[in-house]
Amino acid sequence: VSIVRQQNARFDWTVPVVIVGGGACGLTAALAAQDAGANVIVLERDRRPTGSTGMSYGAICAAGSQLQTSAGIDDTPALLRDDILAITRGETDPELARTIADNAGATIDWLCEQHELALHVDRNWTGLGHQHPRLHAPSNRSGESLMNMLLAACDRAGIDIVTSATVNALVADEAARVSGVHIKRPDGAIEELGCSALILASCGFGANRELVEKYIPELADARYHGHEGNQGDGIQWGMALGGRVADMGAYQSLGSLATPQSMVIPHTLLIGGGVQVNALGQRFENELDDISGQALTVLDQPEGYCWIVYDQRLHAQALEAYQEYRDAIDLGTARSADSWQALASVTGIPAGALENTMTDVARLAAANDGDSFGRTFYDNENLEAPFYAIRVTGALFHTQGGLCVDADARVVTADGDPLPNLFAGGGAARSVSGPGGWGYLPGMGLCTAVTLGGIAGRAAARLVETGE
Ligand SMILES: Cc1cc2nc3c(=O)[nH]c(=O)nc-3n(C[C@H](O)[C@H](O)[C@H](O)COP(=O)(O)OP(=O)(O)OC[C@H]3O[C@@H](n4cnc5c(N)ncnc54)[C@H](O)[C@@H]3O)c2cc1C
Repeated sequence: VSIVRQQNARFDWTVPVVIVGGGACGLTAALAAQDAGANVIVLERDRRPTGSTGMSYGAICAAGSQLQTSAGIDDTPALLRDDILAITRGETDPELARTIADNAGATIDWLCEQHELALHVDRNWTGLGHQHPRLHAPSNRSGESLMNMLLAACDRAGIDIVTSATVNALVADEAARVSGVHIKRPDGAIEELGCSALILASCGFGANRELVEKYIPELADARYHGHEGNQGDGIQWGMALGGRVADMGAYQSLGSLATPQSMVIPHTLLIGGGVQVNALGQRFENELDDISGQALTVLDQPEGYCWIVYDQRLHAQALEAYQEYRDAIDLGTARSADSWQALASVTGIPAGALENTMTDVARLAAANDGDSFGRTFYDNENLEAPFYAIRVTGALFHTQGGLCVDADARVVTADGDPLPNLFAGGGAARSVSGPGGWGYLPGMGLCTAVTLGGIAGRAAARLVETGE
């Protein structure tokens, strides 16, 4: 990751708005910049753009969208902002929270209406910090589908996406104005491209072990289950140009990665009444509390894993809703049996302990009662045979710290002044998840990707058009 310092650099090939990274942030930024009248190009290191976006569940939190209104959900940006401030216990930038909350719903409306994204509001995924159902996702809850929709929209808009194009250096002058980039091709050739504005949409640093060790030491030894391209390039360039970073210790982890298959098991199995049981047959936490911090609590269990235990009702619901769950079932992640005793024998959990734990859960559910971890069980969620179990472990999914941006998604210095022509969004920018692993609101990763991406695209187009 380097900066080539050059005054008045000249390039044979120039595009006004250059975007590094072809995930949700980069593609949304490209659509927004193009809609605003700028010529734009996306540079993506992979042969086919996927990013962490393509690995995700494709669920974007946003409030006050037309989709919510049509579904009869009375939600507002102010409520989303309240939820961000509540889950982060006030330890986030309130102005950024306002910018994101105020613009997310309108971004979803624009993507659906102008660019034909087919999203719907997922009503199964509620709570966990959200006052209202507000996760907007493709009907199969697949990040791959979201990527395909964004790529199709870029295709219709005639946006150039150059793949196998790793940006490995920025060219900038002493005033930190970026005049171009160096692009490394798979054969080692370096191409130079000039720009008037640069948008960093290269996500976070989850794949960079050194940076994870430095900023998130508690997960230094954990598995990373995000895109390998997310090496923190954009964040490091921004820092080298004087950009401020914050919340570098923030991240989303999950304790629900099927092992050894490495597929994400949906939390709705737990939201709907399922539980986590460790190798000793014991529960160990409120499964609905701080799901982002659960990599640590699950890795803390004997042998570093636990089982998600649930039933036929939840299995059927997840099969219908989630593509990745269908794929996980096809891969043989789940064990099932007609009694707790039989489930114990197919999982290797001690039978007596599993039976005791699940009898306890059934008793709490029958009484609509709470447990010692602070979770309440409900009668209508009582688990009934056949029962299911999937072995899961904890992993780092994506980082949430990054470059601080203003209300135009411009990267700012420690003094709060914007750098001349550098923008950031998605995982490259500081998010609104607090300073650690406990403040992540579900759907926020993609929310900041599309919302800041849209803002950055429009602002970059304005900058190249008007100079402001
Ligand atoms: C398994 C999983 C499930 C998730 N589920 C959800 C969910 O349901 N909802 C949600 O909100 N969030 C979810 N997230 C988080 C979400 O995926 C990310 O927050 C979001 O995708 C970030 O978007 P992005 O555009 O910033 O990054 P990405 O989608 O990762 O795109 C960044 C792109 O930049 C490219 N790139 C990087 N460096 C360079 C370079 N130097 N030159 C050229 N290209 C470069 C990368 O190859 C990559 O394609 C999930 C994450 C994971 C891993």
